[in-house]
Amino acid sequence: MTLELDEDLIGQIERNGEAAYPEEGVGALLGSLCEDGPDHDRTLAVATKIEIIPNAQQQHRERRYLVDPRDILRIERYADATGLRVLGWFHSHPDHPAAPSQTDLQFAWPGWSYVISSIARGHAHGTTSWRLSEGTGLKTFRGETILLRGGGIYAPAATEAVAAIFQAPPSGVQPEGTP
Ligand SMILES: [Zn+2]
Repeated sequence: MTLELDEDLIGQIERNGEAAYPEEGVGALLGSLCEDGPDHDRTLAVATKIEIIPNAQQQHRERRYLVDPRDILRIERYADATGLRVLGWFHSHPDHPAAPSQTDLQFAWPGWSYVISSIARGHAHGTTSWRLSEGTGLKTFRGETILLRGGGIYAPAATEAVAAIFQAPPSGVQPEGTP
């Protein structure tokens, strides 16, 4: 999977992160899926619009973001009404690299692009995109390429993955009370 954005949308995403600094700025990516991408065996997610969302996190907004379920519903309805699709989410990392945190990984769902902008001292300093792949109990973020509409690469896919194991307790075993 590859994500395509135009320079104007990348600018809007990065300006939103700068405006939210020193807190995290958040939003949704809307657009469409193009099933035959450049090499026919990959899907291209073509973003054509963003929606800025208020960060619903009550505390530590400089390190955490939360999307209110009502905002997800509102954006999904808007997408349905306009023939668009929710392609993913973006948020900013104030004074941290543009790579997913363990919290980002924990709360991520497959099927979406997660775009992260690093905002260093109030100025955008790189934007990357990530997708979740899941195995048994293992969640891994892999980088995806951000292509620029009209040609060129804005950000190559990160080669390092970010992974963690979130294992549910085996069924039939009580987590507490065992002597
Ligand atoms: Zn994050």
